[in-house]
Amino acid sequence: MQIHRLPVLSDNYIFLLNVPEQKIAAVVDPAVAQPVLQHLQALDTQLVAILNTHHHSDHVGGNRELLQQFPAAIVYGGAEDKGRIPGQQVFLQEGDRVSLGDRTADVLFVPGHTRAHIAYYFAPTHANEPGDLFCGDTLFAGGCGRLFEGTPAQMVASLSKLRALPDTTRVWCAHEYTLKNLKFALTVDPVNAALKTRLEETQSVRDRAEATVPSWLGTEKQTNPFLRWDQPALQQAVGMNDAVRTFARLRGMKDQF
Ligand code: ZN
Ligand code: FE
Repeated sequence: MQIHRLPVLSDNYIFLLNVPEQKIAAVVDPAVAQPVLQHLQALDTQLVAILNTHHHSDHVGGNRELLQQFPAAIVYGGAEDKGRIPGQQVFLQEGDRVSLGDRTADVLFVPGHTRAHIAYYFAPTHANEPGDLFCGDTLFAGGCGRLFEGTPAQMVASLSKLRALPDTTRVWCAHEYTLKNLKFALTVDPVNAALKTRLEETQSVRDRAEATVPSWLGTEKQTNPFLRWDQPALQQAVGMNDAVRTFARLRGMKDQF
């Protein structure tokens, strides 16, 4: 499975998962259709699946147009999103699986950004290969999604599930927010040497107008404050001493940043 990253709108990424041997492809969170259609044509491949993480328009906006061109494509989304995702046919729950070529995704229920948000985790097929996590607007490189429909406790539970995946997982999040996220992170975790290094590297990547996605989950565990609510340094920085309150305080501060 080849993963193609398509930058669209102001800061969204669409991911095209192509299986050249079978000339089939899936797309994750098609905000718009045209760049996806162009890529499918250039790759000479057929769209068989649309994998949506949640119902926001910058993640499902291309569904209808893609279905017009590929009427047999199956639209997947979370069970709780019923009625909110255009063309949805499959209503996924935690533990469900979705296959593409020789890879299979485990569905993780990760509410918080929305009440229905799901993530797709493709475990490696062989040892020493990376896994691939498509997490929409739940976990970002250096940050996490805003809480529109969920509580801090829900988001901590959701991020805990993602944090439990192997360090050698590639995090394919849906937005290029990394630089701003890391600038905020340094304000609450100023003595974290790995974070300082990451911010410097990210600054030069963005100076070259290159993408910071995917990142490694191992790096996120070391540098992303929204996976570090149980670190004493972060709890001290926000004046809290439990995970959910620390997370809630960090999220509130980030909303104002
Ligand atoms: Zn969203
Ligand atoms: Fe989004």
